[in-house]
Amino acid sequence: MSNVFMDTYHRLPVTFANGAGSWLIDVDGRRYLDFTAGIAVNCLGHGNPALVKAIADQAAKFNHVCNYYQSDVSAAFAEKLAAACSPVGMKKVFLGNSGAEANEGACKIARKYSLKKYGSGRHQIVTLRGSFHGRTITTLAATGQDKFHQDFGPFTEGFLYVPGGDIAALDRALDRNTVAGLLIEAIQGESGIVPQTPEYISAAAKFCAERDILLMFDEIQSGVGRTGTFLACESYGVKPDVVTLAKGLSGGLPVGAVLAGEKAAGTLESGDHGSTFGGNPLAAAAGLVVLETVNNPAFLKEIIRKGEKIKTGIDGWRHPRVKEIRGRGLMIGVDITIDVWPVLEKAIARADAKTPGFLILSAGPKTLRSLPPYTISDAEIDQGLEILKEVL
Ligand SMILES: *Cc1c(COP(=O)(O)O)cnc(C)c1O
Repeated sequence: MSNVFMDTYHRLPVTFANGAGSWLIDVDGRRYLDFTAGIAVNCLGHGNPALVKAIADQAAKFNHVCNYYQSDVSAAFAEKLAAACSPVGMKKVFLGNSGAEANEGACKIARKYSLKKYGSGRHQIVTLRGSFHGRTITTLAATGQDKFHQDFGPFTEGFLYVPGGDIAALDRALDRNTVAGLLIEAIQGESGIVPQTPEYISAAAKFCAERDILLMFDEIQSGVGRTGTFLACESYGVKPDVVTLAKGLSGGLPVGAVLAGEKAAGTLESGDHGSTFGGNPLAAAAGLVVLETVNNPAFLKEIIRKGEKIKTGIDGWRHPRVKEIRGRGLMIGVDITIDVWPVLEKAIARADAKTPGFLILSAGPKTLRSLPPYTISDAEIDQGLEILKEVL
């Protein structure tokens, strides 16, 4: 393993050199069944033929054009993305390269929307305790976890945190005179796969609508079909003003998107925002394949079915070390009674020339997080669960 990287990641001792479908292969040829999909990124698996072809075909034409111009492929991608998000009222798209960048865009929209309509002093953005919104200085400030608010201050001001689930606290925080937006994950990812209740999301939507506060869903982890609907917020029956996406949107290439509905669609104007790589043709070509594949009722139904299979599978063990199983679709958290990191290590260490290893994520010290590719087979699910049980 190389030591040249800055020591930012707690890395497990494996180096990958190849991939195929739901499998990664390390530099020594050992195979690992992948229940991480690169943290909800490689949603169509590794080496997906349609993705490979779309990326290769585009690379043979051009990799990039600057945003002085449109490209056919980015325009097609943006159109398809807006259409996929139109059931919740999205109208316009801004394309960037990452989740944090998408959330920065959302914060800019909320602030400008409020400033133009109500003047200064109404710029606060409310987020939830336990949320995760990114690693830039502003999105760290948006992240409602104290452990992220060290060492890098001063942080961007104007963020306020409320405990999830507490409707009265949300009511108090959403002051119509100081707050521009509410940024919320319908299902929190990094902090343990924590879904908000329908009552809470409905109340949030009602407060925001009454007070003209932008309701903004961070769907960076939960979106693009991960929970069995194209957006997780769809299943709550609410209409957000802004949605952010990234991770799975281009099946493994860097991408981010901010979408806005009627209210805020015209907020960002010429010169307000930009991104050199935003709408990158390779990411767009890949994103088109993802949207064509995923945004299909039969495909989404399979995501629900596979997720149920994983949940009932684990539940059926009645394992003394399994405490609780949460989540929807292929976004599943499993609370266990032991530290999660040794489980991750063991699942990798078991790999040898004949025996496969197993890749799964953590979401907090004692929560396993399963985010496999949507294309995983039933046999692979069975095999993964068998290994997980053994490792536990
Ligand atoms: C991963 C994630 C982000 C940050 O995305 P990056 O692409 O790493 O900047 C933001 N919000 C949520 C909910 C995420 O899961």
